[in-house]
Amino acid sequence: MSLANTPNNSADSLAERDQRVIWHPFTQMQTSPLPIPIVRGEGSVLYTADGTTYLDMISSWWVNLHGHAHPHIAQRLAEQARTLEHVIFAGFTHQPAVELAERLLTILPDNQAKIFYSDNGSTAVEVALKMAFQYWFNQGKPRRKIVALTDAYHGDTFGAMAVGGRSAFSAPFAPFLFDVDYLPTPITGQEEATLQLARDLFTDDVAAFIVEPLVQGSGGMIMYEPAVLDALFQLAKEHNILLIADEVMTGFGRTGRLFASDYLTEKADMMCLSKGLTGGTMALGVTTCSQAIYDAFLSDDRMKTLFHGHSFTANPLACSVALASMDLLLMDDTQQAIQRIAAIHRQFAETIVGHPRVAGVRQRGTLLAFDLNVGEQTSYFNHIRDYAYQFLLERGVLMRPLGNVLYLMPPYCTTDDQLAYTHEQIMTLLDSL
Ligand code: PMP
Repeated sequence: MSLANTPNNSADSLAERDQRVIWHPFTQMQTSPLPIPIVRGEGSVLYTADGTTYLDMISSWWVNLHGHAHPHIAQRLAEQARTLEHVIFAGFTHQPAVELAERLLTILPDNQAKIFYSDNGSTAVEVALKMAFQYWFNQGKPRRKIVALTDAYHGDTFGAMAVGGRSAFSAPFAPFLFDVDYLPTPITGQEEATLQLARDLFTDDVAAFIVEPLVQGSGGMIMYEPAVLDALFQLAKEHNILLIADEVMTGFGRTGRLFASDYLTEKADMMCLSKGLTGGTMALGVTTCSQAIYDAFLSDDRMKTLFHGHSFTANPLACSVALASMDLLLMDDTQQAIQRIAAIHRQFAETIVGHPRVAGVRQRGTLLAFDLNVGEQTSYFNHIRDYAYQFLLERGVLMRPLGNVLYLMPPYCTTDDQLAYTHEQIMTLLDSL
């Protein structure tokens, strides 16, 4: 065996060994720098072996709520691992899955009646789409269309990609994605145009209308108001179109309330959850639905079954961790921390709003975003992205700009000092442009 193939060759850094064998997500492997090995995390801080620290201001791809390696979550995980690590979820059940479903239903909008488990945000969306199409199919009234918003992102599997805004990410697969009608995102000033088009697009052939309520994450932290989403939901309901709220990113407090849907008067028929569901510790997805949707699958005819499932559906470790995360989320201290971060964001927004390099400052709860104004169109491929990412990283702050859109999505345990330090680095970045 050649030396180059010897695993654990201690002369090579972990990053070099990584590069030899691993293909990373959303990464151009030819040009991207070596990955940074992290050995430990605590609170909002990530540590490398030599003690370099990074403030995780994006909650590690928006999943972490309570900080890294939280002792309460770790304890529940260890206890569950010693008791039951996994069991098939067809024909069997277990305490963590039942308890998690019960507790989720107490905090979700009150029309949600059933919990369907899967593995991640994309699968939560796939399940919602399949529920929607089959809901109509089972009643002998098939509907063929989905309506979504432009700039939407719902995941990277095929169905989830199909209902996302078409982009460079999905271009190679465009011929294989089912047809979707798009409404422009109803940002302030464009509400009427969106509502007008909705009156045309919402017909009796539309199975479902899917949205990221109030904040479109990957599309660039685009924000819009509850009133216009309520108006869209009302229009959709005139045609009995099923409403899917993809709260994979917005769920579990990010927007300042437990769910973005809590800002709405109208209620979605289905909701998709993941990311913060387990406090960011394990992969788990959930699709919730109303009783009416569930009932459309009840029949003596086996062909009306929802034939969908994954090997790790309702994994007991993931469900236990989600319960532990919910314990923490519902504590007064955490709810206050969410409001504290929202208030600090508001202050910082006021500080930067007049800066010549800043445009489109926007905030909802613990989410703060703005565009870096560098004379180029706002886009994921804006050249400023790599510069800003590296600039902040070198100063110990992990942010991952979406093109020229810079945003903060900190874990709720992030301290005032950590936020103040982050703000200083952002100001230095702005002044360097
Ligand atoms: N929906 C939304 C709104 C998301 O932000 C994401 C991920 N960023 C997904 C779905 C897909 O989730 P996952 O990456 O877990 O598949």
